[in-house]
Parts: sequence; structure tokens; C-alpha cells
Amino acid sequence: MSSCFSIGLTGGIGSGKSTVSKLFVNNGITLVDADQIARDVVAAGQPVLNDIVHTFGKEALLSDGNLNRNHLRQCVFSDPSKKQWLNQTLHPLIRSEMLSQMNKAKSSYCIVDVPLLTENKMSELFHRVLVVDCAVATQMHRAMARDNATEEGIQHIIEAQATREQRRAIANDVITNESTLQALEKQVIELHHLYIKMAASVSG
Ligand code: ADP
Repeated sequence: MSSCFSIGLTGGIGSGKSTVSKLFVNNGITLVDADQIARDVVAAGQPVLNDIVHTFGKEALLSDGNLNRNHLRQCVFSDPSKKQWLNQTLHPLIRSEMLSQMNKAKSSYCIVDVPLLTENKMSELFHRVLVVDCAVATQMHRAMARDNATEEGIQHIIEAQATREQRRAIANDVITNESTLQALEKQVIELHHLYIKMAASVSG
């Protein structure tokens, strides 16, 4: 676990994780973004790309050195063992970069946005798990509007993710994001004060 008191933040697509993250950042809290880290560890020039080429062939890289995600998607679709290899290769890199950023955080606690925290069983990495929860219908209409996506497209993503019950089962704290942004902000501020107190009692 990191030296900085850490809150793993998760929730399904469209639940409001990014919005909640921004509200914590507005209060001076350091944000560690797992999706960004997952992109950074495979950015052009990263050493792991050599291993990926070894396993997936030279088509795994585009001419500009970036990952050919379409090629990888096709490969793991036809050979699930390759998906396992990719996860086993990338997850330790992502975890270690997350921990490094958490340890460098200067705020009284840090927020770590991990969309797939429940699915990837990552709760033990954090001092607390905070789940942003709302009805599936609310997720659907928010995500469709934000991504200009179809109902089927978002439905497909929701079905591939953990259920609300699975997320709530690992939560220490739950934000219900069913109402206005003001109501959301109020819950964030309450948790912000709670986390400052908890972080102080752990370090003191
Ligand atoms: P996530 O990061 O969990 O996918 P977002 O934070 O991007 O979700 O929220 C999805 C969309 O819904 C965004 O466009 C966001 O601005 C909007 N949104 C989130 N919470 C609320 C709310 N309480 N009221 C209105 N719109 C909201």
C-alpha cells in the first residue's frame, strides 16, 4: 500500500467517476488516473512494446511506433491465452506506476480513479474503496449523451462490467449520483473532510 492515504475510486461507465475525480482535484487532492497510466505504459518507445511484438508479431506496432490496438484485439479474440499473457504482462507495470504516483502525492490523501477496480480485484491496493453508484438507466443516458453512443453500445459495455452489487460489496464508501451536480458535490465535500481526518489519524 502507498505511503499516502489512498482512496480507490470506481463505478460503472457513466456513473460519474470523472466528475467526482474533478471535484476532489478542485479541493486540492492529487488524482492518479489508472486509464491514463494504462495508456502511458504502452506509449511509443516503452520497453514492453518489444515483448508485445515478440508475442503478437511486428504488426503489433504501427509505423509511428504506437500500438496497433486493432491487431491486438483481433489476436486476443482468436486466442484467449494471448489476452491472459497481455494482462499478466501489463498489470504489474500499471500497478507499480500507480503505486509510484500514489507515493509521490503531496496532498493529505490521494484519489486513484480505477474504472475496473472491482473486475481486477484491486481493492487491497488502497486504504479505502469509494464507489460512485447510480441506476443502470441513469448510466445509460449519461454515457450515451457524453459519448454520442447507441443504447446497444453502452448496454454491451455495462454487461461486460461488474454489477452494482459486486461494486457495493467491496465499497467502504458509496456516493449516490442520481440527482444534481450540487448534490454530488455535497457528498464529495463530506467525504473530503472524512478522508482528511482518517489520513491524519493513520499518519499521526
Ligand atoms: P464516468 O467517468 O463514470 O464514465 P462521467 O463523470 O464522465 O462518468 O459522467 C458521465 C456524464 O454524465 C458526463 O457527461 C457528466 O458530465 C454527466 N454527469 C455526471 N454526473 C451528473 C449529474 N449528477 N447530473 C448531471 N450530469 C451528470
